[in-house]
Amino acid sequence: MLTVSIPRDVQGTLVRALSASGANECGGILMAEHVGPAEFVVRRLTVQGGGRFASFVRSARSALTSLTEYFRQSDFDYTRFNYLGEWHSHPSFSVQPSSIDHASMRGIVTDVNVGANFVVLLIFRLAGRKALEGSAHTYLLDGTITPSTLIFE
Ligand SMILES: [Zn+2]
Repeated sequence: MLTVSIPRDVQGTLVRALSASGANECGGILMAEHVGPAEFVVRRLTVQGGGRFASFVRSARSALTSLTEYFRQSDFDYTRFNYLGEWHSHPSFSVQPSSIDHASMRGIVTDVNVGANFVVLLIFRLAGRKALEGSAHTYLLDGTITPSTLIFE
């Protein structure tokens, strides 16, 4: 099973984004460091707001600048630093993926332009003023969806 860790600084970014979005969903892409056989640490994420998850996917092109910058800063060491997947918030319902979320993620993992073997979806909501609650799922090329472990460092 895949494990995804969220360091404190990234948790801070998420809490601020979720607070600012209120009842609206926000989301973006995840950039991570590969630290173990099936272990990733989220190092950076983009924040887009004011819509539903499907609309974040469509505007993913605007996130490419951040991705390029991340690759440059990590000396294009793609095996260690790479795109991990997507995140978004569910401000007012369960952090489990909806059927639309599953369909969107299957679309991303099978997109030849993304060229990924798997993609991770993280969903967050605020549990109290500064506490985060979340879920992690991994989508494989063959259509398999596996629950993954989410760790708040
Ligand atoms: Zn969703």
